[in-house]
Amino acid sequence: MAENKQKKAKPIRLVFLGPPGSGKGTYAQRIAPRLKITHIAAGEVLREEISAGTELGKRASGYVSKGQLVPDGVVISAIQVRLEKALKETRGFLLDGFPRNMEQALQLEKATAIDVVINLDVPESVIVERLSARRQCEKCEKIYNIKFLKPKKEGICDVCGGKLFQRKDDTPEVIKQRLKIYEEQTAPLIDFYKAKGLLQTVTCTQVDIPPEIMVKEILGVLEKLKII
Ligand code: AMP
Repeated sequence: MAENKQKKAKPIRLVFLGPPGSGKGTYAQRIAPRLKITHIAAGEVLREEISAGTELGKRASGYVSKGQLVPDGVVISAIQVRLEKALKETRGFLLDGFPRNMEQALQLEKATAIDVVINLDVPESVIVERLSARRQCEKCEKIYNIKFLKPKKEGICDVCGGKLFQRKDDTPEVIKQRLKIYEEQTAPLIDFYKAKGLLQTVTCTQVDIPPEIMVKEILGVLEKLKII
């Protein structure tokens, strides 16, 4: 009997780059399940460790609440574990919020190849307006916005019925600090990935653009590059 040689689908390895509030998490939550890849949100990983009170969470907590980057050693090991799991158990990964500086980018290079870096280019005025109205489900982590992406029932998640909360670092003071850190430490990665031929920029200047429109645009880029 002829051996049933099923061709293994090629992995999909994506990175979303962009300032806080650019929509990385919102789009990743919609794209990752469609591509059957694992969404790895660095901030989410850290928040989970913090609320579980783990050693890692204790080390990260002060930095997150001030809007500063958690030391590389702490973040990189946590991400590496999830990367390996994603590649083993699913078709690949969508990294959101990692890498956030040059050292993390170099470590990521050592850990895995990546197929494309989607750079979400969004003006600061849009970011500030979005972040102050952002809410998130405490159970399933789905992201909402009380002005532009409202849940059907106020304060309640459409998907799982969980309660929505406002992140402690979505306050004007901390938002300012996070944007400063983005400019100083993360934005240089745009040129780093451009030089490697991996960067694709998607621009969004409209504060209330429906996520599905941006999702379609990003999927279009991936199709054009024959990544999906
Ligand atoms: P985010 O949910 O991506 O906005 O991240 C929330 C916070 O988690 C950031 O302001 C940082 O304090 C921390 N954080 C997230 N990702 C990283 C990272 N790659 N390196 C260091 N700290 C991070």
